[in-house]
Amino acid sequence: MFKLIKNNGISYYQIESFQKTGLVDHCFTTRQGGVSVGEYESMNLRMNCDDKRENILKNYEIICNEINVDYKKLVFSNQVHEDKIYIADKTDCGNGIVFENKLKSADALITAESGVPLITFYADCVSVFLLDTEKKVIALAHSGWKGTVKNISAKTVEKMREQFECNEIIAAIGPSIGECCFEVGDDVAEIFSELNEGVVRKYGEKYHVNLQKTIENQLICAGIKQENIIVANICTCCNSDLLFSHRKTGGKRGSLAAIMQIK
Ligand SMILES: [Zn+2]
Repeated sequence: MFKLIKNNGISYYQIESFQKTGLVDHCFTTRQGGVSVGEYESMNLRMNCDDKRENILKNYEIICNEINVDYKKLVFSNQVHEDKIYIADKTDCGNGIVFENKLKSADALITAESGVPLITFYADCVSVFLLDTEKKVIALAHSGWKGTVKNISAKTVEKMREQFECNEIIAAIGPSIGECCFEVGDDVAEIFSELNEGVVRKYGEKYHVNLQKTIENQLICAGIKQENIIVANICTCCNSDLLFSHRKTGGKRGSLAAIMQIK
């Protein structure tokens, strides 16, 4: 379950099954509890936009302090809707926040080192959290519809197995645009109906796609047991007072983030 925590005026989600392991510090942010204003109100973590940099950095400080993460150590992804996966270590700490992002393309990040906080960004796309409880390896993947078609979540699981012999992976699929709001064109609907059964539904004349369900199926195909997968079933577009939604705002929005480190 994705549990909404409200503390010190900040709201964020934590995954109960991840919290229970005691192995990680993590959250999925909401837009509440930051200092940004206007369309970025208020917990905006989007760097490349016209929000004030000092406000963005303050937001990082607020949310990271709350979950025991040193924001100056964050390792940023560089999300381009592709399927490149980057394995981060201590030398990457600060990538994207203290020094310029050196990654040209990385929609998923993995680390096996403690104290290396990973961060990926969202405003309708799907966040995927992975944790191997035995080998103590974590990953975050950004799976928008294009990344989902490229099967980035399963590829990230595969990479964790190859590099670190991960066999005890638990997973969580975060808030994103839901089937209720994710209307797509006939071309995208066709791609998804070929990809997976039961993830495309007709609402009147229009097709809608269920991204969270598609990713759950992909993780099961990658060998993760269904009972070890948590699906948020929370729609960003239906909850735009709490979450940033690209579609709801026509792109005038800040970014949410998934943040996770091994303790
Ligand atoms: Zn919705």
